[in-house]
Amino acid sequence: MATTYDAIVIGSGQGGNPLAHKLADKGWKVALVERKHLGGTCINTGCTPTKTMVASAQVAYYARNAKRWGVRTGRVSVDLPRIVERKNNIVQQFRGGKEGILGFLVGQVMKKSGGSASPKLVNELLRKRLAG
Ligand SMILES: Cc1cc2nc3c(=O)[nH]c(=O)nc-3n(C[C@H](O)[C@H](O)[C@H](O)COP(=O)(O)OP(=O)(O)OC[C@H]3O[C@@H](n4cnc5c(N)ncnc54)[C@H](O)[C@@H]3O)c2cc1C
Repeated sequence: MATTYDAIVIGSGQGGNPLAHKLADKGWKVALVERKHLGGTCINTGCTPTKTMVASAQVAYYARNAKRWGVRTGRVSVDLPRIVERKNNIVQQFRGGKEGILGFLVGQVMKKSGGSASPKLVNELLRKRLAG
């Protein structure tokens, strides 16, 4: 049997995610289609990774210039692989949060209705998930 939707949102970025949620809140049956990573550019290659690396650069700057604030430090060096690892972990965590919510929804919808995802059921599950 063919599945029909009230709206198909292409792309799970800063534009697509809130739009899909808003439409689902209004009771629309929405399909969110993503070809790469949930979260889009901002979470995966834009805002989040760049800002985590800028934060490390800022810490190195403060440590190297600590004297200015009356703080003594030893020799300061930058561990780039560790900075990249931290960035990757944070991106994975943020992306995983989105996958977790969607994975939870798919699992619960299958369990509670044999796969038939009514907007009412999805909203009810999402509300419970976000509340708990
Ligand atoms: C290096 C960098 C740093 C940035 N830093 C900041 C910042 O600090 N603050 C800020 O506000 N903004 C920042 N931005 C901008 C921000 O990332 C974008 O404004 C935002 O991601 C745009 O959201 P979007 O939903 O329009 O597009 P995107 O986030 O790019 O989402 C589009 C999604 O659609 C998917 N897609 C495209 N075509 C298809 C298709 N045919 N089928 C299925 N899926 C498809 C893509 O895979 C992608 O996941 C930064 C951008 C970059 C590149």
